[in-house]
Amino acid sequence: MARGLVVGNWKMHGDRRANEALLGHLRQAPDGARQMAVCVPFPYLAQAQAALEGSAVDWGAQDVSEHVQGAYTGEVSAPMVADFGCRYTLVGHSERRSLHAETDAMVVAKAQAALAAGLVPIVCVGETLAEREAGQTGSVVSRQLDAVVAGLGERIDEVVLAYEPVWAIGTGRTASPEQAQAVHALIRKGLGSACKDAAAVPLLYGGSVKADNAKALFAMPDIDGGLVGGASLKAAEFLAIAAA
Ligand code: PEP
Repeated sequence: MARGLVVGNWKMHGDRRANEALLGHLRQAPDGARQMAVCVPFPYLAQAQAALEGSAVDWGAQDVSEHVQGAYTGEVSAPMVADFGCRYTLVGHSERRSLHAETDAMVVAKAQAALAAGLVPIVCVGETLAEREAGQTGSVVSRQLDAVVAGLGERIDEVVLAYEPVWAIGTGRTASPEQAQAVHALIRKGLGSACKDAAAVPLLYGGSVKADNAKALFAMPDIDGGLVGGASLKAAEFLAIAAA
């Protein structure tokens, strides 16, 4: 990636007033910063679109249904999200996998639905603390990645991948640059034979990224940017991460 990418995941935070101030600050992202995007709660997609249209910052959703339309009460489809000008959607975030029992097959179906609607899926993978401590990081991440590679076929070149060790999300405990790089290298290798150009697929690191650790993480050869949760709710911090 030439400039890298930093994506904010607001999770279930925000209200119209707070969003207005945050989005207003983000519009002023300096030239030369990494490409930026924010994934906001569904009700605020229209607000993000109105505030960010014409700026250097993209916006997206945090999840989409695997279905296009129908009797799926409470679900939001990829075409609906695309209707609000989204460029991205997260799929397979660990909170969706653990709290909503999303399987690898569902994550693949959601990534397919996103691509079919013209969105770029940001596919999240990562191991739990128990899996890391059991020495299973490689096998867990490879299993999650292989499902997406097999399911998307040649469209795998069109996704963004985010490695997010579950034990580092929202805990303040970041993977060291070396720990993150080791898994990113594994992901890049796993993409190798499936992609036309594995080096061009953005690989983001997520898990307690802050302005003061972003530079060291982003200096790693296979880390092309970050997926940022808590720190994306503070404009100055998020902009500093994008500039790191
Ligand atoms: C996330 O929600 O994807 C995330 C990485 O959160 P945090 O930065 O707060 O750890």
